[in-house]
Amino acid sequence: MILLLVFAVIVPLSAQQKPECTVRVTLLQVNDVYQFVPVDLGTRGGLARVLTLKKEIEKESPNTIFLLSGDTISPSVESITYKGAQMIDAWNLAGLDYSTFGNHEFDFGPDVLLQRMKESKFKWIAANVIDKKTGKPFGDAPAYVVREFDGVKIGIFGLTLEETAVTSRPGPDVQFLNPCDTARKMVSEIHARGVKTVVALTHLSMSEDKEVARCADIDVIIGGHEHTLLESTSGGAPIFKMTADARELGQIDLNISKSTGAVESIDWKVIPVTDQTKDDPQFAVINQKYGALLKELSRVVGRTAVDLDARSAIGRTQETNVGDFIADSFRAATGSDVALMNGGSIRADEIIRAGTLTRRDVLSILPFKNKVVKVELSGATLRQTLEHGVARSAEDAEPGRFPQVSGVKFSFDATRPAGSRIVNLTINDKPLDEKKNYTLAASDYVAIDGGDGYAILKGTRLLIPRERAQFDSDILQAAIVAKKVITPKVEGRIKRLDKGQKQSTDCK
Ligand SMILES: [Zn+2]
Repeated sequence: MILLLVFAVIVPLSAQQKPECTVRVTLLQVNDVYQFVPVDLGTRGGLARVLTLKKEIEKESPNTIFLLSGDTISPSVESITYKGAQMIDAWNLAGLDYSTFGNHEFDFGPDVLLQRMKESKFKWIAANVIDKKTGKPFGDAPAYVVREFDGVKIGIFGLTLEETAVTSRPGPDVQFLNPCDTARKMVSEIHARGVKTVVALTHLSMSEDKEVARCADIDVIIGGHEHTLLESTSGGAPIFKMTADARELGQIDLNISKSTGAVESIDWKVIPVTDQTKDDPQFAVINQKYGALLKELSRVVGRTAVDLDARSAIGRTQETNVGDFIADSFRAATGSDVALMNGGSIRADEIIRAGTLTRRDVLSILPFKNKVVKVELSGATLRQTLEHGVARSAEDAEPGRFPQVSGVKFSFDATRPAGSRIVNLTINDKPLDEKKNYTLAASDYVAIDGGDGYAILKGTRLLIPRERAQFDSDILQAAIVAKKVITPKVEGRIKRLDKGQKQSTDCK
């Protein structure tokens, strides 16, 4: 009887907790997502899993906004074919609410991005990306949006890296305004509408995010671009960045006061997206639509017994094992004396771990579908060609022209004047003979179009012209298939004599 009495007292009390004074708004964050299928051999990421997680979170926290902090249309192997349309399809199905522009959104030019925006069921928001012709945000994107949940309001505005003007292809009509000035203006506009809670959805460097947080009254910054899991605070605002490719889902809960409309507290967690989470069955239509390409890309073509260094910063500054392997395959496939490729053509920008190699790996290394041609040139021209390859090695952190070679061995001193940096040049272990003619395998981009400044090759005699040439990626793939297991190593073909090698900057 006593016990019952106790329950009778306790139960109503817990059921009648004082009315909630705050409203919880959950921000779900991803950034820098280049493919909708899982990465890391299927163990991490995958938007079908993200959709499962999102639905679980929404059951418990109904006021949810799903945010992408930019970079999704490019680069990827799928985008070679679809120019980012496949990602828009995936985001539409995954229920994305808002995205801001990353620098890579402009890689296919402004017209393609406008087309992608038309296809988007979610909204792109951009405060500092301005169409010069209209003076308004690009593609008529809203600079900010205001959402209301249970009587509390939240404003979200978008910011993009200013350097996008030069690192991507936005064209002459798109202007990127200073993030800090823009943030100040946005916050005052949003506050003027009686909205106290302000979220910045950004694609900036961490130092710029910190600056933005210091110069404007922002409650939280949902950022990206670094591909590194980062949490920081500046000016009283927390800043969150997930890595990339939806390996994690950020959950940021804003507890907003019903009486003041201001953020009272923030809780957050980083949820790993792994193969422990099932695919949402709704996502099957996307996998079906792109099934043929995905199947083709997942086809195993061979194995590598060693890690393949396909990092851009390395391939543009020094000899790499993958550079040696590709140059060897070009030379063998064309029966040339030597081969040269510009380091900037190697694109995967990651270390491909030892293990199986798929068609996706091959295309991620060589995505441009260049043709590999064969030309005849004098020893003197070959020397000048190689000189051109190292002529920016002291001046640029990551010169795309840097040569990866086969049949060639040389040292260079980048402190010497451009054009006379190479010493100890040998061709197939013999000193280069300036008067002798040699045959060279190179991409049509370099040898015919004079890409990366290799204009010197333009006049050389074509032995295998473009029409009869094979694609670079097909040659690489055939070389892997033929060997079954590859074990390329850096063979000491290129040696840098001066120590002045600049630290490369990691630009995502
Ligand atoms: Zn970026």
